[in-house]
Amino acid sequence: MKIAAVRGFRDVLPEESAVWQRMETQARASFAAYGFSEIILPVIEKTELFARAIGETTDIVEKEMYTFTDRDESSLTLRPEGTASVIRAYIEHSLSHREPVSKLFYIGAMFRRERPQKGRYRQFHQIGAEILGRDDPLIDAELVLMLNDFFTTLHLEVAVDVNSLGDAVCRPRYRESLRAFGESKLAELCENCHARLHRNPLRLLDCKEPGCRQAMADAPILTDFLCAPCRDHFARVQAYLRQENVSFALNPRLVRGLDYYCRTSFEVIAQGLGSQNAVCGGGRYDGLVEQLGGPAIPGIGFAIGVERLAMLMQTREHHLSSTPDLFIAPLGAAAESQAFSVARRLRHGGYRVELESSSRGLKAQMRRADKLGVRYVLILGENELAAGKGTVRDMQAKSDWPTAIDLALPAQTMIEAVRNVNS
Ligand code: AMP
Repeated sequence: MKIAAVRGFRDVLPEESAVWQRMETQARASFAAYGFSEIILPVIEKTELFARAIGETTDIVEKEMYTFTDRDESSLTLRPEGTASVIRAYIEHSLSHREPVSKLFYIGAMFRRERPQKGRYRQFHQIGAEILGRDDPLIDAELVLMLNDFFTTLHLEVAVDVNSLGDAVCRPRYRESLRAFGESKLAELCENCHARLHRNPLRLLDCKEPGCRQAMADAPILTDFLCAPCRDHFARVQAYLRQENVSFALNPRLVRGLDYYCRTSFEVIAQGLGSQNAVCGGGRYDGLVEQLGGPAIPGIGFAIGVERLAMLMQTREHHLSSTPDLFIAPLGAAAESQAFSVARRLRHGGYRVELESSSRGLKAQMRRADKLGVRYVLILGENELAAGKGTVRDMQAKSDWPTAIDLALPAQTMIEAVRNVNS
């Protein structure tokens, strides 16, 4: 009986993992330019960390976490997101004593027991970044700018939505106004929204039910309720983004249901991904460090969904180059043994080399080279070997060149000679 992977858990095969590598490399480069360092976090945390950080009444904590009881009876959870762990580590290691401002990024697997579909998995990966210790508009703008740089360098066309969620001064007034509006539309709202109405009216704006969306279409918007300092903060964030020509749209319906989320909030949306089209979500969370038992230190961060971004990149560029620079086709045992050393020398020189087994005939070897998309094949037959040379076949020109390549040449010289055979 065949054993398949667990539903919602998937393998990333080589053609996709090449895209992941490119994405990660670019993230590391873009984030380093803004002064971020990597933090590597455990995938398991105490359940209470997420209950406290994400909130008992959220979908994630209520029904999506992979939680289990360890042998010592403690309740543990596979992390559903990264921010809680970053802050737990930040507090645990007193990072605020070392540096007034911490800029940290992470890359890794997250686990949520959602209904699997295209672009939504139960194990997925995020590239996330957090800034702890600053609450000025400049840093909010910098974070969005960094995201923008990252997407631009990858040549991905995305749309950035931003909003301000206000703060503890202005949001309560908005919440009440939204609750009153929701009460007036009670008959049109779904059952979940009835519960949200009392627990967390902001999430009425989040509901995906068409009936609820319609009912809430004319709901009051937060922007109209912002207090003067929040309005000023938001205006300055926008001014910085405009100064650097970052295109963004104001989206007053972009909300996060938790109390400590405040002020700048943003989302990145991509075309061509179907319903799961959000590739990044982020925002400011000034009360969270304190809520997790740390000092009153402000924070802001985002998380990018790796799978969705990979889908986007793959639709754009079909095969990213993991194609070998050279394919070596040995004919016969003696040639194979010689080819073994030549391949190793070229690989040490930094070239990608595919070495085929001599048990396959020349034709079969050429078919494989073709499939790999390799441009040049170095053929080593008995005759060539006797002369210490190999013959090159240019797979694009579909011809053998009489030029014999000296097998004793250093790696770079040999590869250059191979590439120059037809010039
Ligand atoms: P969140 O942590 O929910 O704000 O999500 C941040 C980003 O992670 C989203 O914009 C998605 O790109 C990605 N993401 C969230 N949940 C999933 C999932 N179940 N499968 C794949 N990607 C996800």
